[in-house]
Amino acid sequence: MSSDAGGPEPRDFYDVLGVPRSASKDEIKSAYRKMALQYHPDRNKSPEAEATFKRVSEAYAVLSDEDKRKQYDTYGKEGVYQKYGSEEEVFRGADFSDVFRGTGFGDFNDVFSQFFGGGMGRRGPARGDDLSLHLQLRLEDVITETAKEIDIPRTEACQVCGGSGAAPGTSPKRCSQCGGAGQVQRVQSTGFARFIRVEQCDKCKGRGVIIENPCKECKGRGTVKKTRRIRIQIPAGVDDGHTLRLRGEGEAGQRGTPPGDLYVVVNIPEHPIYRRRDSDLYVDTRINAIEAMLGTEVRVPTLYGDAKLDIPAGTQPGATFKIKGKGLPRVNSFGKGDEFVVTGVYVPKSLSGRQKEMLRALVQEGKVQ
Ligand SMILES: [Zn+2]
Ligand SMILES: [Zn+2]
Repeated sequence: MSSDAGGPEPRDFYDVLGVPRSASKDEIKSAYRKMALQYHPDRNKSPEAEATFKRVSEAYAVLSDEDKRKQYDTYGKEGVYQKYGSEEEVFRGADFSDVFRGTGFGDFNDVFSQFFGGGMGRRGPARGDDLSLHLQLRLEDVITETAKEIDIPRTEACQVCGGSGAAPGTSPKRCSQCGGAGQVQRVQSTGFARFIRVEQCDKCKGRGVIIENPCKECKGRGTVKKTRRIRIQIPAGVDDGHTLRLRGEGEAGQRGTPPGDLYVVVNIPEHPIYRRRDSDLYVDTRINAIEAMLGTEVRVPTLYGDAKLDIPAGTQPGATFKIKGKGLPRVNSFGKGDEFVVTGVYVPKSLSGRQKEMLRALVQEGKVQ
């Protein structure tokens, strides 16, 4: 499909690239290469070229990545953005340079920085700082989805002035010295050399605006410090080190720009009983040599309550038995992992006289295999 320069924008990523849903990685790559070369803004000066270029690049970024494609096939575009949080994350990791290798296409080899590298003329951070915190959980906490409420000290946009820093009814004025850029060029001569330096505007302190009538609540800053209780939804089965991203829950942005994000890093310390491998759990049990020979039944702990396990006759030390579905919920698919019970076998140390006699009788019975 090559008719998308006009008409309504195709929404589906496969339609955007004009490939079937069953397309292979190579088909997706070659479809993208063709369209990207056609719509790259350096080549195509039509007004919608840049938007189209970005759209096909977005479709490629998602469909060329196995995880993102799976997420897209199951949950659609919304699902991809929900999982990856931002456009930046959706584009991140796609190997654009590989696509353009050998096309003789100038110095265009990094679509990512083209969109997100903060090219020319971008002044100041476009949003507030990110915050991060560590959240300690126990293994028992993650067998179901849980929510935690945590108090987070942060800056928020001032409610009185809406973040502008100017008293209600007034508004900040564009700085006359820098014209709102927040930066000025200074030419410096040292001996024979002339330097052109870009410096922060001293009149507006880089803000680009002058506030003549500061807001009383925030003293012109536009932000106030606040401790906010935030509810954090933790998916079932998360592992140690898992990071959740809460969009817009970070520090307030300057000049009314959007707030940063809050990153919550999950810490799950080692469990005294269970060892974890992905969604599977390993637990030890001990039986004595006679039980190992004759078979027995043991009770073993699981995160969902004790379970009975039949140990068959002739069990060897280290033998592992599976209790299906008693592991942790799988994060990116359905169902649960399993619990594996590792059998330790010990030799009884103190036998009664009669027990010894019986064992000797057993030996006299013949060679034991
Ligand atoms: Zn204010
Ligand atoms: Zn200025």
